[in-house]
Amino acid sequence: METIFADRISDVPKSFIREILKVTAEPEIISFAGGLPNRDFFPVEQIKTACNEVLDTDGMEALQYSTTEGHNLLRKYISDRYKTKKNLDVSSENIIITNGSQQGLDLLGKVLINENDSILLEKPGYLGAIQSFSLYKPDFNHITLKPNGIDTDELRNVLKIKSPKLFYTVPNFQNPTGVTYDLETRKETGRIIEKTNCFLIEDDPYGELRFKGSNLPSFKEIIPDNTILLGSFSKIFAPSFRLGWIATDNKELYEKLIVAKQASDLHTNYFSQKVLYQYLLKNDIDSHIERICKVYGEQRDSMVNSLKRYFGNKITITEPEGGMFLWVTLPENINSMELFQAAIKKNVAFVPGTPFYASNPETNTLRLNFTNSSPKIIEEGVKRLYEAFLNFSE
Ligand code: PMP
Repeated sequence: METIFADRISDVPKSFIREILKVTAEPEIISFAGGLPNRDFFPVEQIKTACNEVLDTDGMEALQYSTTEGHNLLRKYISDRYKTKKNLDVSSENIIITNGSQQGLDLLGKVLINENDSILLEKPGYLGAIQSFSLYKPDFNHITLKPNGIDTDELRNVLKIKSPKLFYTVPNFQNPTGVTYDLETRKETGRIIEKTNCFLIEDDPYGELRFKGSNLPSFKEIIPDNTILLGSFSKIFAPSFRLGWIATDNKELYEKLIVAKQASDLHTNYFSQKVLYQYLLKNDIDSHIERICKVYGEQRDSMVNSLKRYFGNKITITEPEGGMFLWVTLPENINSMELFQAAIKKNVAFVPGTPFYASNPETNTLRLNFTNSSPKIIEEGVKRLYEAFLNFSE
């Protein structure tokens, strides 16, 4: 039966996280595994009202086929928000509304990657991007991610040896590590990539979830000609709406993305786009985001403090200023897959680091999500994790 399937899908693994989520669905398990936003913040009532308003005012239009580029008013909203929040000029004409930013990754892979083309990813990197790009069979090259961003010497060297088509980066509160690039690393990355033919894909689903420190410039400000932006409403509104976007001022690329999207789904769910826009019109999303950040900040503090209290200097952790994840490096002799098995027996779960590497995984690493449990549960989960850890470290 194997031979009936196309080569492009045969080596692509199932999402390891989706598999783990099946195990962690049991109610007695404290899960730090998922990448789920805190459901308490889903604006259920406001969405109900927005749905009714859309159906009452232009129900028939909202249920009809629509344009591939997406709902014009929503594109304009995104463009205006780039201006007010980041002082970035991103024309609404250069935005395509996608089925989550995940679809943006797939479309970019489809349009840019031929088999064996060189592409660059952070090490470790977002597993969904590894999976998306894998379908197009690229030559993956990793750039080590350090506490302040990528290792720019590695970037310089790889650009000399290969001519990568793209560098995929999550510069704010990266998934899986929580790392944010500092200003100097952003500038140096910009200096290296500028004047090459390499696109820089800035994926920023977590940028607005900052609970400490201050915002740093987008690559769009530093190297506008190379930068493609990906954005998402999943983390600030509701992931099930599957609404995100791609923004690029490169007209040729834009047109190719439109063709790829037409071939894939004609257009993104128009009703959802209208409901989201109606929600944005009638509600103050900034205060909504502020409320999310306040709670996520408390959850993050609880996790950082509990990890320090239990583990001391036996492990190293990142201390993110935003987002949803932190990254743990265990002593070298401990394999996080084995720790995962022991942790499940103690009813606590996390994601082992391995799936975040396209090759040569650092097996003593793991990702913890802190946004889905209360500070009290986090404390209890970290205690259980430490008990599981003791099986290996003594
Ligand atoms: N990029 C990154 C870095 C992510 O963490 C995620 C979600 N986990 C996505 C993209 C996809 O998000 P969505 O499709 O919901 O916008």
